[in-house]
Amino acid sequence: MPAKQKKILVIEDEPSLVFTLQDTLENEGYEVFICDSGTEAMDKVKSVKPDLLILDVMLPGVSGFEICKQIREDKHTFPIIMLTARDQEIDKVTGLNIGADDYITKPFGVKELLARIQARLRRANSYSKSGPMDVITLGPVRIELNEAMVVRPDGEQELTTREVELIRYLVSHANDPVSRDALLENVWRYEYSTNTRTVDVHISKLRSKIEMQPDDPRYLVTLHGVGYMLKLQ
Ligand code: CA
Repeated sequence: MPAKQKKILVIEDEPSLVFTLQDTLENEGYEVFICDSGTEAMDKVKSVKPDLLILDVMLPGVSGFEICKQIREDKHTFPIIMLTARDQEIDKVTGLNIGADDYITKPFGVKELLARIQARLRRANSYSKSGPMDVITLGPVRIELNEAMVVRPDGEQELTTREVELIRYLVSHANDPVSRDALLENVWRYEYSTNTRTVDVHISKLRSKIEMQPDDPRYLVTLHGVGYMLKLQ
């Protein structure tokens, strides 16, 4: 039997772009669903249950940011790639901050979008094999991100909001090296008075919660001269 077709929902109101996206994605073998209104987006998300969402920021009715936020509040975990015409850093930051996985600025090349879709679907697929991404198991330690809780054989530890964000970022780049600068950009978003030392301090604190032997970490490892890596099976 052929592999099940992946469902991609496109929420975009620009007819020519919708046409191009639908055509391109269907040619690639995806099953494509279209929604051209912000106000109908959530209903569409619920009825389609997509494997991936392409979401325009500027929509009539409700903005793409609002929709993205709502989707994550409703605990949908499929990847979201946001589209925007406005090439502003603030949009990227806002988008990633509210739970988008990636961001692409119009006008973009179709090949670039396809590459990003494939990368996101691959990652999403590897999560579903290891269980829902809100629960992460590191040997005897279970991290429950929705509860901001670490359950260990020797007791429970609460996670701070920042630690939850940090783990989410590391999980989304599991088994890849992550630089301190990338963490500063994506987790701290270059807040005032943060620097790479801030990252190191938080990593060290996080290790004491999620590693049984924080001085000899098995999962959240340091890559000297590079940064850190979360090793997941
Ligand atoms: Ca638009």
